[in-house]
Amino acid sequence: MIQDRRLSNLARLRSERWDVLVVGGGINGAGIARDLVLREAGLKVALVEKDHFASGTSGRNSQLIHGGLRYLKYFDFGLVSDALHERATLLRVAPGLVQPLEFLIPCYGKTDRWFYGAGLTLYDALAGGRNIGHHRALSGAETAKLEPELARDDLRAGLLFFDGKVHSARLVIENILDAEAHGACVVNYAGARWTPGEVEIRDTLTGEEFPIRAKKIVNATGAWSTGAPLRLVRGSHLIYPRIQKGSEAIAYFDEKGRIIFFIPWGENDDLTLVGTTDIDHTTGPEDVRISDGERSYLKSIVARLFPAFRGEAITSYSSLRPLLAESGRSATATSREHRIWETADGVLHISGGKYTTYREMSEELVDTLLRDVAPGRDLPCRTATTPLPGFTPPKEMAPRVEMAVEREFARRLQDVLYVSTYWGHERHLDRAWLEPVAREMQELLWWTEDRTAREISFCVEQQGLP
Ligand SMILES: Cc1cc2nc3c(=O)[nH]c(=O)nc-3n(C[C@H](O)[C@H](O)[C@H](O)COP(=O)(O)OP(=O)(O)OC[C@H]3O[C@@H](n4cnc5c(N)ncnc54)[C@H](O)[C@@H]3O)c2cc1C
Repeated sequence: MIQDRRLSNLARLRSERWDVLVVGGGINGAGIARDLVLREAGLKVALVEKDHFASGTSGRNSQLIHGGLRYLKYFDFGLVSDALHERATLLRVAPGLVQPLEFLIPCYGKTDRWFYGAGLTLYDALAGGRNIGHHRALSGAETAKLEPELARDDLRAGLLFFDGKVHSARLVIENILDAEAHGACVVNYAGARWTPGEVEIRDTLTGEEFPIRAKKIVNATGAWSTGAPLRLVRGSHLIYPRIQKGSEAIAYFDEKGRIIFFIPWGENDDLTLVGTTDIDHTTGPEDVRISDGERSYLKSIVARLFPAFRGEAITSYSSLRPLLAESGRSATATSREHRIWETADGVLHISGGKYTTYREMSEELVDTLLRDVAPGRDLPCRTATTPLPGFTPPKEMAPRVEMAVEREFARRLQDVLYVSTYWGHERHLDRAWLEPVAREMQELLWWTEDRTAREISFCVEQQGLP
């Protein structure tokens, strides 16, 4: 049996008095908690997450640390420039977690080459001295040689450029663990509800509820936030057996300007992640699944770009962009700008933005918070200069599961499958495959036979069906 750090953190959460309670264990909550403790302001910081850390959008996105090439079309130069700046910072402070990835834009017809070439020249200019590498052009023949199965009809050129990739759930976990190592009390499966002067925590594994004492609340609940009118936009991905031949990702712009990525995927690099969509989502943040329309749209892009490819999607995943509501703009065009604001009850809220810019957004929020709780003190942000500890996962299943449970607070089967690893995003799950993973957890967490069977059934039923 493991030494249960979650239970000791839960006991601390209950008994101590907190200066700041961060609600939400996605990338924003994790970044804020880490920034706060690294400032060494002497503040007591707690972070609670109602599910597992990174179980929301932050673990189910396109896994890119990127400037966002497509936002140039909407003249969002500030957003792109900030994101490129952050891309460079994350490559420097988290080299084991964020890595450069080369992309190919296949160019069809007369104008693609010049239109996207101009965009990439601007992209390079905005990245300035922090660029990963300048873009370069290939002829149509060179592009077809690199990717022999790309649709050839009117393929005139290819453009190669760099962005960054990340195991996005892992970067959340590493931020949370580093925040804990610097004194934060972090508890997953702990939902928070608050009214002025009162905070109630619910242990969502046991159902137990108790009050805690917190002076200041930070609401980083993403798509669950009720602090402002949000526009929830669903994005879905399909996972295929490997489509492209080369090691680069492919970026394809559809006729509406939406960008679809084909990203090398899987621990053995034998899969391709295809996405994403942009669809208004109206059924609430707990019910997020790919629709038939999104599935056919993504399939049609695969068929258009790789007409000879015959593979079928093996699974899918979807999540929500909590965007700031703007009237009259399409889901694709709605701005990815973020907003930080305080409500009359003293709660600080953060919303919008991109995963890539979480560190900068966290810095802005913590600066705002410290002006209030530690006025006049010079407490510079240290997250742009303090490296995140590296991480080498064990190769074998059993030690990997043990690490997920002991180090990373995995308490349900899905936590291992979609956060500590992406095993669940690499295959269509069946009971036979899940059984040994669940047995490992059963032993570590003393699950009953009934609980083990329920965990397996839940994962089989909940997985993204192709
Ligand atoms: C399909 C898709 C692809 C994307 N791809 C990229 C990309 O490649 N690069 C990029 O830069 N950006 C990308 N983004 C945007 C980015 O992923 C999000 O902006 C970011 O992850 C939001 O993080 P968050 O912490 O605000 O939200 P979340 O990760 O959703 O975290 C919020 C957390 O709060 C918890 N919570 C809610 N209510 C409570 C409560 N009452 N008590 C306790 N906990 C609570 C939730 O369980 C959740 O875990 C993408 C978005 C989508 C939808």
